[in-house]
Amino acid sequence: MMWLPANVSPWEWEQVRARVIAAAQACAICGRELFPDAPPRSRWSTSVDHKVPRAVFAGMDLQTQRQLTLDPQNLQAVHARCNSRKGKRSMRQSVPRPQSQKW
Ligand SMILES: [Zn+2]
Repeated sequence: MMWLPANVSPWEWEQVRARVIAAAQACAICGRELFPDAPPRSRWSTSVDHKVPRAVFAGMDLQTQRQLTLDPQNLQAVHARCNSRKGKRSMRQSVPRPQSQKW
């Protein structure tokens, strides 16, 4: 994965990710059940979300990035669709809407 901090190997992340998904009962965002058999990358597939998002910790020192990337306390299993909605929502919050322009 491209976004992993330099001191986290994809292998390490994959292990933690699999553990979080295996332990999860329900989507942390919508509360509905997870579907382990959903096709990968489909809307109902399971993805692992960082509560403190990478956008926030990307600028911190590598040790902190590693900690937040792999800390189960910072991870939650969610539906891919819920995760992308959350992402869009926080984007809207952080980026001011462009004012409508008069031409
Ligand atoms: Zn969900």
